[in-house]
Amino acid sequence: MSHSRDKSHDEGKKVGVIGMPIKHSKSPVIHNYFIKQLKLNAYYDRYEVKSDAHLDQFVKSVKSDEWVGFNVTIPYKQDVIKYLDEIDDSVAIIGACNTVVVKENRLIGYNTDAEGVYYPLKNKVITNAVVLGNGGASRAVLFQLCAEGIKNICLVARDHSKSNDYVKKINDQYKCDISLKTFEEFNQMSLSDGSLIINTTSIGMSISDEPFNFINKINQSHIFYDLIYNPWKTKMMSIASQNGAQVINGAYMLAHQGALAFNLFFNHDVDTEVMYNLIKEDSHNG
Ligand code: NAP
Repeated sequence: MSHSRDKSHDEGKKVGVIGMPIKHSKSPVIHNYFIKQLKLNAYYDRYEVKSDAHLDQFVKSVKSDEWVGFNVTIPYKQDVIKYLDEIDDSVAIIGACNTVVVKENRLIGYNTDAEGVYYPLKNKVITNAVVLGNGGASRAVLFQLCAEGIKNICLVARDHSKSNDYVKKINDQYKCDISLKTFEEFNQMSLSDGSLIINTTSIGMSISDEPFNFINKINQSHIFYDLIYNPWKTKMMSIASQNGAQVINGAYMLAHQGALAFNLFFNHDVDTEVMYNLIKEDSHNG
């Protein structure tokens, strides 16, 4: 396990983010800004966890008064759960945890990604949604859309065998009706006016990724929400924007999950808009 903590931060409580790769994580930028503002005696660092054995070693090492807690990113959001002493309902349902608080040598797990997803949508009227992709982030998105009372949801993915059980669980719990479509089926359909379309696939992260075919059907009545924030504007976001749609990238989700995690770590409310601006500035400088 390696990390970037330098000697000037040896004093104070430890808090951070684990994952692999981790060096591009923007979480230290947003957390350390408020740690400094609020004059808290702590430092938020990146911890590169290279294997399951390292995860085991890391999680056991944090059960001490030195630690406040840690965030979890790819690929450990599921694997970390078996180490936790307590989990909240969102972790139990989604099956993924992105925030762990260390309290009296106990590890308590939360999922702030789900609530984070909804932050930029909270003042919008949404009646139906299309969710592209059925990986980890998609589970948090489906959970939150259903929890917000959106009943009409279409999940578009390549292989539904891995999401069938989860969709059934969410449909039963929230009395939703998530329908399942392949990309081929979805391309044949018309997009209802007013739809929210959320891309939770990794398509768009690489400059060479080709946009999905349906993107040309997007018009000014739609909201196109992509969880990607690096690049800041993907090809699909550009096309949707040119077609007049409202476009949202993943930076607000990142900011709000961070603000919620900060509150769980330090019991201080911090401003999501400030976190968003820090992410935007960092993205445009780096
Ligand atoms: P993941 O578990 O690896 O899921 C990736 C999804 O993309 C899977 O459903 C995968 O389908 C699909 N996919 C990949 N290539 C595809 C293609 N060519 N055609 C159709 N589908 C394809 O990853 P994740 O953790 O859910 O993350 C997904 C995205 O969300 C990433 O871009 C990540 O950066 C972003 N994210 C953002 C935030 C934020 O705070 N803004 C937080 C979490 C994640 P298969 O299973 O069929 O391969």
